[in-house]
Amino acid sequence: MAERIDGKAAAADLRGRIAEETRVLKEKTGVTPGLAVILVGDDPASRVYVQNKKRGCEEVGFYSRSFHLPADTGMEALLDLIRTLNGDEAIHGILVQLPLPAHLDEKTVTEAIAPEKDVDAFTYANVGRIVSGDFDLVPCTPAGIMALLSIYGVSPDGKHAVVVGRSNIVGKPMALLLLHQNATVTICHSHTKNLKEICREADILVAAVGKPRFITRDMVKEGAVVIDVGINRTETGLVGDVDYEGVEPLASKITPVPGGVGPMTITMLLQNTLTAAKRAAEREKP
Ligand code: NDP
Repeated sequence: MAERIDGKAAAADLRGRIAEETRVLKEKTGVTPGLAVILVGDDPASRVYVQNKKRGCEEVGFYSRSFHLPADTGMEALLDLIRTLNGDEAIHGILVQLPLPAHLDEKTVTEAIAPEKDVDAFTYANVGRIVSGDFDLVPCTPAGIMALLSIYGVSPDGKHAVVVGRSNIVGKPMALLLLHQNATVTICHSHTKNLKEICREADILVAAVGKPRFITRDMVKEGAVVIDVGINRTETGLVGDVDYEGVEPLASKITPVPGGVGPMTITMLLQNTLTAAKRAAEREKP
């Protein structure tokens, strides 16, 4: 039977540490980490995410501001707000909640964020730094997974890690972080042939597909560490990309959905904001 990787407990523990570091930073430098979250439109899921981010900031003692703009907000107005926040010394992290309404170009909007305040690490500057291995702001979901692996004593060094999914938000940065920790990495996607055989070779299997219970028992090697990124809303509730009941008896460690990767994502956003605030405090030193 697999050990259950408890993301909720790990996130609570990490938030405690972030709160303590925040207290020390304030005391030593007078700097309070500040996060600005911009939401355009009324997508219900996005509203929940923004609310959770705001709550997370309060929990660790950050300053936070949220901007809820109407769905018909124009590009210039949005870019103006981002430029203002880029120049606001009380704000160390800027996050634009995606997806944006169709008339707004996500890449142009993301690129407007100053790289040192890009706490989602989506700008080309930060993506480039992640590729080269010289980074301190990390995409939140992959960063949360790396933290979970470390907490649960799973070293990627020399392991075969298979990442199913190649999105810019999850799959690609996940593969790079595993590579930087010396895993041998295979990235799979919808054109991959022999997916089952490749997955069966994985010591660490990361599923970021967006399809309910896509990874089944016959795709998992005995003793594998299985990380389920998927969040799929079905008639029977929230389910991951892994068939948990089928896979769990085979795996050595496995993340549940919910309560696995999900709780770590916002925690890593808080971690990135703290990192950005520390860098700003260093720059301000006389
Ligand atoms: P995307 O839809 O952007 O990417 C899905 C990836 O899965 C694509 O690369 C796609 O391949 C691949 N894929 C689709 N079908 C197959 C298939 N049959 N065989 C192999 N690969 C396939 O999703 P995201 O990366 O944004 O998210 C993935 C999942 O993670 C979603 O359920 C999402 O809700 C969840 N998520 C969870 C987060 C958390 O905090 N826990 C945060 C972010 C996402 P191709 O590129 O060829 O199309």
